[in-house]
Amino acid sequence: MDRPPPPRPSTSARWLSALAFAVSVAVISIAAGAAASAETAAFSLENPAPGVYVHYGQLADVALDNEGDVANVGFVVGAQCVAVIDTGGSYAVGRALRASIRTVTGVPVCFVINTHMHPDHVFGNAAFADDHPQFIGHARLADALRRRGSNYVAALQRTLGERADGSRIVLPTRAVAATEDLDLGGRVLELRAWRTAHTDNDLTVLDRATGTMFIGDLAFVGHLPVVDGSLRGFIAVTDELSSMAVAHPIPGHGRAGAWPAALAPQARYLRGLAADVRAAIKSQRTLSQAVADVAVTGDDWLLVDAFHKRNVTAAYAELEWEE
Ligand SMILES: [Zn+2]
Repeated sequence: MDRPPPPRPSTSARWLSALAFAVSVAVISIAAGAAASAETAAFSLENPAPGVYVHYGQLADVALDNEGDVANVGFVVGAQCVAVIDTGGSYAVGRALRASIRTVTGVPVCFVINTHMHPDHVFGNAAFADDHPQFIGHARLADALRRRGSNYVAALQRTLGERADGSRIVLPTRAVAATEDLDLGGRVLELRAWRTAHTDNDLTVLDRATGTMFIGDLAFVGHLPVVDGSLRGFIAVTDELSSMAVAHPIPGHGRAGAWPAALAPQARYLRGLAADVRAAIKSQRTLSQAVADVAVTGDDWLLVDAFHKRNVTAAYAELEWEE
């Protein structure tokens, strides 16, 4: 006995299933495009010293066209371990950084170090989760990320949409309260937790073998310095860093030329900001008047519109009570 023929789908059902197939193909290719864009785009790596690699992020605010690739990130290769220093402003950037490490070495990533809490330096952490590294930061980093993390995630999703997929806060598993040495096998990194300056959780990483220092956002070059901790502290730390011998300085943003000359514009900006805000407070200007009046003078900076008024606001709040 013949089986009954399978029911024929109606024309509209066939059309719908064809449409569904087309949509699913489109979704897959969009997803693949989003996942691959940062990874397959040229992720430039520089090699300023033996075993030291740096990717210079764009001098820009986080935006769709850069996927959060706006901070300098890098890694140091030892005989047993790779240490990653900052991971970029999205999971996509972290993935690209991880892929770039694998073009250089097969040595495992044992350490992921964050120089501070800001989202453009930490959102790539999740790309290293499968490596099961120690995530290392300043002793105050975990608290700062707990306080701000959900706002950072929401802001990234607003800015990047689906390009933010996979980006999440990964808390440190190891805290540095003062100084610590990190042995990568045949080379040692010196970690130093600083007093409140750019933020209250700034950490620097010095590769002793080559004199390379990853300074994070205690050093801005070209990109307007940002004050999210203490203006007075930032001035003091800038002065202290300027007194140190650094063969290969890697700022958090921009490129450092001669050292410490590269820090001079930052020192001038921060001192000028303090002087102008103190003058505004002394002459009884309100906060909003100070924000309107205090201008950037002297050096040329990028991203003044994005950050200067916030710096004046932070400086006013800090300096108002100093007398
Ligand atoms: Zn920062």
